[in-house]
Amino acid sequence: MSPTRKNLVICHLYPELMNMYGDRGNVIALARRIAWHGMECRVEGASIGAVDMAGFDIVFLGGGQDREQKQICVDLKDAKGGRLRDAVEAGVPFLAICGGYQLLGKHYRTASGQVMDGVGILDCWTDAGETRLIGNVVLESRISGSPRTVVGFENHSGKTFLGEMAEPFGRVLNGFGNNGEDRLEGAVYKNTIGTYLHGSLLPKNPWLADWLIDRALQRKYGEQLSSRLDDSIENMAHEAAIKRVSRRTV
Ligand code: GLN
Repeated sequence: MSPTRKNLVICHLYPELMNMYGDRGNVIALARRIAWHGMECRVEGASIGAVDMAGFDIVFLGGGQDREQKQICVDLKDAKGGRLRDAVEAGVPFLAICGGYQLLGKHYRTASGQVMDGVGILDCWTDAGETRLIGNVVLESRISGSPRTVVGFENHSGKTFLGEMAEPFGRVLNGFGNNGEDRLEGAVYKNTIGTYLHGSLLPKNPWLADWLIDRALQRKYGEQLSSRLDDSIENMAHEAAIKRVSRRTV
C-alpha cells in the first residue's frame, strides 16, 4: 500500500464457513466503495485458529446455519473474542449478519436445546423458535441521525431479544425482525451492528456501507468521509425492494 494514500483493512471472519445468501457481497461492496472513494483497501480473511487480530479497520461476520455456528463459536469466543471486544470498545466498525449476529450476543440456544455461548459484545440473546421467520424486510433505522430505510431478506428460526445495553438497529416496517413480536430489528453497540438482514445488505443500502466506512475513517484518520458516489443504480435496487414488499402486503 502506498504510504501517502489513506487505506482501510477489512477483516472478513470465517469467510469459508459463514457466507449465506451472498453475505460475502457485503465485503465486496465495502472494498469497492473504499476504492471508489479514492482510498486503498485490503481484505484479510480470519479463519479458525491463531490469527493476528490487530490492525483491522472494519470487521465483517456473515450468517451461517447452526452447523457452521457450532464450528466457529468456541474459536470466536475464546481465540478471537478478547481482541474483538477491544476493537469494538475502540470504535472499530463491525457488521455481523444473522448467525454471526446471534453469536455476538450472550448465547444462542438451538431447537434441540444446545446452548452456544456468544462473545457478549452485544447485549442480546437468542433462543430458537418453532417457526422460521422468512421474507423480505424493510426497516427504518436512525443510526445515522436521521431516519433511513434499510432493505434486506431474513431467514431464521432464532428469536433475539435485546438487553438494556443494546439499541435496536431499526424498527420493522415490513417483516419479522428480531423475534416477530416487538417490531425491533438488529442490535447496535458503539459502531457494531448485528442484523438479520442478508441481501446482500450493503449493495442495496449504500448509505449503510458509507456509514461503516465513515466510522473507520474517523477512527483511523480523524476525518469524515467527504466524497459522495453516484448511487443512482444502488438506490433503484433499494426502491425496487421496498416496492416489492409493499405490493405483497396490500
Ligand atoms: N441458524 C440460525 C437461525 O436459523 C441462523 C441462520 C442464518 O444465519 N440465516 O436462527
